[in-house]
Amino acid sequence: MWKTARPTVTAEWLCTSCGATNRLLTAPTTTEIRDRCMTCGLAHCIAPVESPVRWRARAA
Ligand SMILES: [Zn+2]
Repeated sequence: MWKTARPTVTAEWLCTSCGATNRLLTAPTTTEIRDRCMTCGLAHCIAPVESPVRWRARAA
């Protein structure tokens, strides 16, 4: 049954400042979302690219 949990994908992205790998659970329909680097705190806009796991990140 799918009613108890919403489907999610893991968005993995690299910080453009410190290079740390960050992960964010989000909906599969997400086209762009903001997140912060867990290591240095820099805000980024991340968007899915051809790879379903590794997302494109740019400083925001
Ligand atoms: Zn960082």
